[in-house]
Amino acid sequence: MAFGLYIHIPYCHAKCRYCDFYSQGASRQVPQEYVQALLREMEDLPRPHTLYLGGGTPSLLSPRQVSDLIEKANPLPGSEITLEANPETLSPALLKGFREAGVNRLSIGVQTAYDSQLKVLGRLHTAAQARECFDWARAAGFENISGDIMMALPGYTREEFQATLDLIVQGGATHISAYLLKIEPGTAFGRKPPAHLPDEDQAADFYLEAVVQLEALGYHQYEISNFARPGFEGQHNLIYWNCEDYLGLGPAAHSCMGGKRFYWPSSTQSFIEGSVCPTEDGICGGWDYIILRLRLVQGLDLALLKERYGMEFSSRQMAFLRQCVQAGYARLENGVLALTPRGMIIQNTILTQLME
Ligand code: SF4
Repeated sequence: MAFGLYIHIPYCHAKCRYCDFYSQGASRQVPQEYVQALLREMEDLPRPHTLYLGGGTPSLLSPRQVSDLIEKANPLPGSEITLEANPETLSPALLKGFREAGVNRLSIGVQTAYDSQLKVLGRLHTAAQARECFDWARAAGFENISGDIMMALPGYTREEFQATLDLIVQGGATHISAYLLKIEPGTAFGRKPPAHLPDEDQAADFYLEAVVQLEALGYHQYEISNFARPGFEGQHNLIYWNCEDYLGLGPAAHSCMGGKRFYWPSSTQSFIEGSVCPTEDGICGGWDYIILRLRLVQGLDLALLKERYGMEFSSRQMAFLRQCVQAGYARLENGVLALTPRGMIIQNTILTQLME
């Protein structure tokens, strides 16, 4: 079974208006005491198959800090080592430093190619800066680069999606994450939603068009929101979706080891002081496996579900799934159940009815 290590960097230049990740804005760098706390928690860990520096804004780390974290994690040979980066934090020298430190996969938060929209989102970079980062990353030796696109933004148009896609594709991305904007409670958008948000049907149309366009450009969908050139699927996230072991370090980071879930409390200061322990969060069971596998285009192998969790769908559930197949929301072939892109949009509704 694969093991993935996630390291959370809870610092950002500023808080984006839509973001509900645990991070503190107004940070210019990552305090060394936080890196020391991470290193402290990395004693005696198994060697990971994947290492993911996520956030927050991990590109606020210095190459030296990244190098220390990678050295301590000691990933297995050939491991995928990802760092999430925000364009306004990057420079050619920094990217070269990250590459030399051992990072071999970069995930760049582009979101949109429209500067006016970036301002609405509270992002601090411009499209030109994002474009430049792809060139710098390739020059620094990165061959595996992912770009994020956020769709269904206020007043969203096909032209905005096209311009963002062009920026990322021309930048040489091997992987694209394309998400729909979600208004989360507790965020600036949650408190005061922006005007001219597309409705659910319009958002679904943007998503379905994105799937078609990305496929046509050679980025195959492998998960609801993730598309990759062959061989460039994100190995770390696949560990989550396959219900394999992963350990998250840092405040608000979640883990699942041996089927047991736990998470660190959302307090950077307590994590630094070492005054808190992870909180238990239940067991990962058959339904979790079903939910996660149905995110994947590869789908859910019903024989494997029985083998791993002793679970089988009842005749009522099978009849419901056949209705989903007839309606074009799912495929059921050779004992494998998978959602179509149309089914993925209404995954929650399908799961709710399946669970009843
Ligand atoms: S979206 Fe990313 S950069 Fe923006 S506040 Fe959230 S974690 Fe930070």
